Parts: sequence; structure tokens; C-alpha cells
Amino acid sequence: MNTSNPAALVTGASRGIGRSIAVELARSGFDLVINYVSNERAAKEAHALAAQANERARIEIFRADISTASDRERLLAFTRERFGRLDLLINNAGIAPNERVDLLEASEESFARLIDVNLKGPYFLTQAAARWMIEQKRSQPDCRPMIITISSISAYTASPDRGDYCVAKAGLSMMTRLYAARLADEGINVYEIRPGIIDTDMTARARAKYDALIAAGLTPIRRWGRPEDVGRAVAALAAGSLLFSTGEVINVDGGFHLRRL
Ligand code: NAP
Repeated sequence: MNTSNPAALVTGASRGIGRSIAVELARSGFDLVINYVSNERAAKEAHALAAQANERARIEIFRADISTASDRERLLAFTRERFGRLDLLINNAGIAPNERVDLLEASEESFARLIDVNLKGPYFLTQAAARWMIEQKRSQPDCRPMIITISSISAYTASPDRGDYCVAKAGLSMMTRLYAARLADEGINVYEIRPGIIDTDMTARARAKYDALIAAGLTPIRRWGRPEDVGRAVAALAAGSLLFSTGEVINVDGGFHLRRL
């Protein structure tokens, strides 16, 4: 079915950053697919929040493990069946290692899991989504599809107790540059958002450590990031204010990336 609203697919939108992105995009007038992998209850709550943000937005929920090829296919097929279009892909879903382990001890199993979910999943989901967007652009030349990937300050910050996470996020940064270069001629812009320390389930285990670091001035803007800080940055890009920029990195990190003396 084709609708007049633009359609966005947000991976990992049941909780945390992805949920805020979904809410902000609904508010901006997007129809949405909220993807999750295991927490159906959270996905329903995210649906309710997004629906509250915009009663006219059409919002769907779909369970799919982005690390699995067949699930990625089903996710896109579902989006196509429900909305008939894809204007915006948000690669947000991601995981932390089960435990932080020193680089010299960390296991190959953890490395494989982190690469599968955090890098291989978005890499090939982007490939399949881009093919669809190119096809769509040929039949509707006025549409301007976009791809936004949520990486991390870990793309360039070495944390030797979670090397697998850092390597996967560094890979996402190159992925953004690759797709930006390949898709510019197709009229598809590609961006990377690099969040800093954001208050979600993912960071809950390290709360005391980050509280102390932030209080000591780790980030020039001396507070935790909130999921909506990232959600609003996504909505700003999605609004199309940076159309002569592609492959760009937007830091949403309270200034963490600044070198200071
Ligand atoms: P979160 O609260 O732990 O939420 C993770 C989301 O990803 C959930 O919706 C989860 O679904 C989903 N997910 C996990 N594995 C999946 C899979 N295989 N397939 C589909 N969905 C999957 O994490 P978050 O803090 O919001 O992080 C979101 C993204 O931002 C991640 O890529 C993370 O690396 C990145 N990031 C986070 C921070 C931070 O400080 N929090 C900083 C920089 C970057 P279920 O609810 O079903 O489990």
C-alpha cells in the first residue's frame, strides 16, 4: 500500500536511542516501522509513545534480528508491504559485549557476535535498502531517500576492555563513507551520527563510572546525553537541511570529541 507520508525504518526502536528517534520522526510526519529483536513489550510501549507524538502517523512493529539475512529480508518485505516506500533507513540497533573483558583475554565468540549485530547487520541491511531506494528513485525522481547510521564515539576512542565494540563501530564509520560515495549519484544522502555517553539500558551497568567521569569534566557539556538528543539530531537531518553534505559525521556527544589543552 502506498501512503503520502514518507516512510522510515528504525532498527532497534523498542528502547533507548532508537525509541527516541522513532518518536521524533513520528512527530516530523514519518510513517514508521519500529524494529526490535526480543522485547515485544518495549516495542509496544515505543509504538504508543510514537503514536502519541503524532496521531496521524502510521506506525508498525516488526520483530527481526538484523544479524540474520532472512530476517533482514523479511523486515524490508514487511516495510514494502505496509508502506510501499522507504524514504529513510536508520541503522540504530546495536549491542554491547556481555561483559567488558581486557583485549588480551576477550573471546572470539564475543567478537563474532558484536560484528554480526553491530556491523554485518547494518552493512547488508543498507545494501538491500539502497537497492530498493534506487529503484524507487527511478519511478519517483522527486523523492530523496536517506540513510543514517548511529555509530558511537567508540568509532575512534580506544576502550581496551571492549575492543569488539570499538572495531564494529569503526567499521560503521567506513560503511557510511562507502555508501555515501556509492549512492551520491543515485540521489541518496548518507550520514553518521556519533553519540557520546547516553542514558539508556546499554550504559546502565557503567553508570557510576560515567557519573564520575562526567562530573570530572570528561565532556565540555557536563551532563549525560539523553536519547532525545540523538532523536532530535536524526529529525534535523531527516528534515533535509544538509542536502549538499553526504558522508558527514554529526557528533552528539556534549563536545567529547574536542581535544582540549
Ligand atoms: P539499548 O537501550 O540497549 O537498545 C538496543 C536496541 O537495539 C533495542 O531496541 C534492541 O531490541 C535492539 N537490538 C539489539 N540487537 C538487535 C538485533 N540483533 N536486531 C534488531 N534489534 C536489535 O541501546 P541504546 O543505548 O539505545 O543504543 C542504540 C544504538 O546507539 C546502538 O547502536 C549503540 O551502540 C549506539 N550507541 C549508544 C550509546 C549509549 O551511550 N547508550 C552511545 C553511542 C552509541 P530489544 O528491545 O528487542 O532487545
